[in-house]
Amino acid sequence: MKAQPCPKCKEPMDEGSMSWSGSGSSGYVSKQQTGMLRVVTKISTARACPACGYVEMYLDPQELKKKIT
Ligand SMILES: [Zn+2]
Repeated sequence: MKAQPCPKCKEPMDEGSMSWSGSGSSGYVSKQQTGMLRVVTKISTARACPACGYVEMYLDPQELKKKIT
């Protein structure tokens, strides 16, 4: 994957993934998921700017669509 510049300061961004230590099921939950079982969508990719600290996160859009439609 090609490195994208930071949207804030145009510095090259570092790519990685989100990690919540101690929990294996953290991720994104839509407000449209109103059921008892709110299955999180895993954040598959994250990018952080080493210059300003901006972080952007990406999940699997296909996986999210299945949960909110
Ligand atoms: Zn930046």
